[in-house]
Amino acid sequence: MDCIFCKIANGEIPSKKVYEDDRCLAFYDLNPQAPIHVLFIPKKHLCCVNEITEENAGEVAHIFTVIPKVAKELGLENGYRIINNCGADAGQTVMHLHFHLLGGKTMGEKII
Ligand code: AMP
Ligand code: ZN
Repeated sequence: MDCIFCKIANGEIPSKKVYEDDRCLAFYDLNPQAPIHVLFIPKKHLCCVNEITEENAGEVAHIFTVIPKVAKELGLENGYRIINNCGADAGQTVMHLHFHLLGGKTMGEKII
């Protein structure tokens, strides 16, 4: 499968890793939208939120236990934003489930 985030997960494409375990990986976004912009991905390929099921939801839950630990390590004590884009209308460009962690500044206009 020609998926850049699978290739990052298996080391074929280099990334600036922040965290890794057997189930997920966090690495800096190439095109940061905040002073700290890290992407969290499951190692298992899921296209997007639409492919989350009762069977694989543990991968997502696991990521959400890792996010606060990484955020703390990165000094984001004042808070951070987690964003997921699902599908074309949301502007998803990489079809491997990922969560953006954005922080290091006071966020401006709220989306919601
Ligand atoms: P999305 O628009 O939600 O699909 O986000 C995809 C994100 O992946 C964008 O913010 C890109 O800057 C980022 N990205 C694409 N390729 C790479 C890469 N090789 N390493 C790090 N980040 C990447
Ligand atoms: Zn993938």
